[in-house]
Amino acid sequence: MSYVEEVFNYLKRSSPSQTEFYQAAEEVLESLRPLMAKHPEYKKYKIIERIVEPERQIFFRVNWIDDNGEIQVNKCFRIEFNSALGPYKGGLRFHPSVNAGVIKFLGFEQIFKNSLTGLQIGGGKGGSDFDPKGKSDNEIMRFCQAFMTELFRHIGPNTDVPAGDIGVGAREIGYMFGMYKKLVNRYEGVFTGKSLNWGGSLGRTQATGYGSVYFAKCMLEAENESLEGKRCVVSGSGNVATYTIEKLLHLGALPITCSDSKGMIIDEEGIDLALLKDIKEVRRERLTEYVKARPSAKYIPIEDYEEGTNGIYSVPCYAAFPSATQNELNLKDAQNLLANGCKCVSEGANMPSTPEAVNLFVEKQISYGPGKAANAGGVATSQLEMAQNASMVNWSFEEVDAKLEQIMKNIFNTATDAATEFGEPKNLVLGANIAGFKKVADAMIEQGLV
Ligand code: NDP
Repeated sequence: MSYVEEVFNYLKRSSPSQTEFYQAAEEVLESLRPLMAKHPEYKKYKIIERIVEPERQIFFRVNWIDDNGEIQVNKCFRIEFNSALGPYKGGLRFHPSVNAGVIKFLGFEQIFKNSLTGLQIGGGKGGSDFDPKGKSDNEIMRFCQAFMTELFRHIGPNTDVPAGDIGVGAREIGYMFGMYKKLVNRYEGVFTGKSLNWGGSLGRTQATGYGSVYFAKCMLEAENESLEGKRCVVSGSGNVATYTIEKLLHLGALPITCSDSKGMIIDEEGIDLALLKDIKEVRRERLTEYVKARPSAKYIPIEDYEEGTNGIYSVPCYAAFPSATQNELNLKDAQNLLANGCKCVSEGANMPSTPEAVNLFVEKQISYGPGKAANAGGVATSQLEMAQNASMVNWSFEEVDAKLEQIMKNIFNTATDAATEFGEPKNLVLGANIAGFKKVADAMIEQGLV
């Protein structure tokens, strides 16, 4: 049995039933085989055994009172995975599907993503099975405050700096930051994704979506192609999807879809961004509202998707931007995309493609940007927010956006260089995993056995 297999089997025994975590770990460990063969020191220092085990895991209970006066109980997590490159950094997810395996998969991916940005940030992730949907503002506030009464003791601007993710946006960050400040009696940059009024960075809201499109642009430029005039499909209608659509429109592409957990919109004239923002960011309503205001568009509920597929990926397109959630794009979806001529997939979401779908994209050598590279613009801009907070300056939107685009180019080049070194220049899964891992592994060796 190889070293990588040994570690993977150990992981399955020691962390039972964490399927999403195994999926993320297996992809990284498989990619590392050629690197391990070239660098025996990683085995000597047991880097793989150490890197798959979080440095610290905090599991806690949160009680709060709903609007009916009833007690509610939620399970909450913060996984501080790896601090070799800097303070733990990664978002908080509030969604009923959250469990230890989901947070560990996200935290594990975050280590390599953060390393790829070239910035000084370690990897972490957290969240709760709390469901913000249908809750009043007061309920959201009470939950966020209760959540912070435990989390505050574990985080800090040089220790662990959370941000948003699914179900956690500016409103939730505001409530959590407020409680943190009250508890520690200090005004400090312990969160990123803060409101612009009190320490946020211009460009952070847009960064993940914009970054994913910049990454696609890099991949396509390497093929002498561009997004201009091209039909694009986008899944999701949250933060990442919205700003992916915005940047696609800036670049003259034609984004024609978006979705939520109930269904999807196809708008052949191009998604009406102002309408989408009004429905999702202001009114917080479902996508059925979109077709009421724009009858030329079509709404398809998930019950009407072809069985075993995500309807988004059956829509013919040149490029696809999965921007909703993990495992939303399976082998059949990948086959549908390719059969319809799709040439580029840039992942705004974390691990949206199943392993079979990823393998097909890699085998067919389309321009495929795996999430840990393509969606790293969000965390990179979070680090820019930390830098501005620490030096008490504010950069302009244009300055932040220019830095973001340069960071995405650097990530593309770093992943491409590593992929080329190992003989598969277009395989950015291989390149991103190897380059992301190597920097962390070398830092762990240099910092001794801690
Ligand atoms: P939001 O909560 O803003 O939006 C999530 C979107 O995805 C919503 O449209 C939601 O629909 C949909 N969605 C969520 N879960 C499911 C599901 N199980 N099935 C179908 N649709 C689903 O989150 P973000 O836009 O911030 O995050 C989207 C993805 O991007 C996640 O994978 C996240 O980890 C990743 N990401 C986010 C970053 C950020 O900066 N925000 C940074 C890097 C990665 P509905 O409203 O119906 O639930």
